[in-house]
Amino acid sequence: MNWKWHLAVGFMFQLAALVILYQHKLLSHFYIIPVIFVIAPLLPDIDYIQGKISQIILFIGTAVGIIGILSYFILKMSVLLLLAGFIIMAAVFIIATVFKHRGFTHSIVFCLLCAAFMYKFFGLSAAVQTFAGVYSHLIGDVLPLKVL
Ligand SMILES: [Zn+2]
Repeated sequence: MNWKWHLAVGFMFQLAALVILYQHKLLSHFYIIPVIFVIAPLLPDIDYIQGKISQIILFIGTAVGIIGILSYFILKMSVLLLLAGFIIMAAVFIIATVFKHRGFTHSIVFCLLCAAFMYKFFGLSAAVQTFAGVYSHLIGDVLPLKVL
C-alpha cells in the first residue's frame, strides 16, 4: 500500500484514539500529536528503502551531511555534522538490510515497542496514539480495498 493510504488509515485510527483519550481526560503533550500523526503510520516501512519514511530520513541525512560539508570547508567547523549525516543515512540502509520487508517492523511487538518508547518520553497519551498509528499500518497493509 502507498504512503498516502497509510496516512489516511492512520489518521482515522489515531483520531479515534485521541477522541477516547480526550473523553477520559488523558490527552497530554499536545505538541507531539501532529508529529505522531505523520510518523507513526509510515514507521513500519522503515524496513523498505523505497518506503516514504526511509526516503524522508535519507533526505534529512543528506541535508545534514551537505550542511556538514559546507560548515567544515567554509566555516572550518568540526566534522561532527558531516558524521551525523552519514550515520543517519547508514542507519536507514542497515535497518532496510537487516529487517526483511513486512517482517519485524510489521508486527504487534514493534507496535508495542514504539508505544513503550513514547510512553517513556511523552506519557500515556502519546503511547496510545503511537500504538494506534503504527498498528493502523498493519491493518492498512492487509485491507484489500485501495481508495487512494
Ligand atoms: Zn508496510
